[in-house]
Amino acid sequence: MKTIPAFTCQMCGHCCKGTGGIVVSPEEQDRLCRFLNMDRVSFLAHYAEKKSSKYIIRSDETGYCIFFKKDTGCTVHPAKPDVCRAWPFFRGNLVDRISWEMAQDYCPGICKDVTHEEFVRQGMAYLKSHCLIHQQTGDANALKVSDIEKNLCQKMEPRTHNL
Ligand code: SF4
Ligand code: SF4
Repeated sequence: MKTIPAFTCQMCGHCCKGTGGIVVSPEEQDRLCRFLNMDRVSFLAHYAEKKSSKYIIRSDETGYCIFFKKDTGCTVHPAKPDVCRAWPFFRGNLVDRISWEMAQDYCPGICKDVTHEEFVRQGMAYLKSHCLIHQQTGDANALKVSDIEKNLCQKMEPRTHNL
C-alpha cells in the first residue's frame, strides 16, 4: 500500500513570517556563507542580528524572513538552518498530539489524513536521514528529540525503512 506523506510543503510562507525565531549557529552561518559565497562578517552584517549571545536571521519590512521571496519561497533552501529543515517534525509535534493538531491549522503542508503515529514514524525517519536529531546543549529545543528517539524507534521498528 502506498504511504501517504505526512508532510508536503505548500510554500505558503506562514512559517517564514515572524521575527527572532531563527537562530543561526556558527555551523549554519558557515553553510549559508558557502551557499551565498560570502564571508562570515558580511553575512552577519547583511542577514543577521545579535540577540543575547546568539545570532538570528533578520526579517524584512513585511515581517518575513529576509530569505523569503513571494512566489519563490526560501531562497537559501539548500543551506537553510536546521530548524527550517526540521519543521514540522519538531519535538512538540512529535510528543504531543494536541500540538500536532494545532500545527495542522498553522501549516497546510501537514497531512490531516495520516495518524499522529504515522506522522511520528515518518518524522523520525526524516530527522534521522537528514542528521537533524540534535543532542548538544545550546541547540534549538525543537530539535532535541534524541531522548525520545529510542522509545519512538522501538515503536516504529517494523516500518523504519518504508519512507
Ligand atoms: S507553513 Fe507549512 S506549508 Fe507553509 S511554507 Fe511553512 S512548511 Fe510549507
Ligand atoms: S531560512 Fe528559508 S525556510 Fe527558514 S525562515 Fe527563512 S525563508 Fe523560511
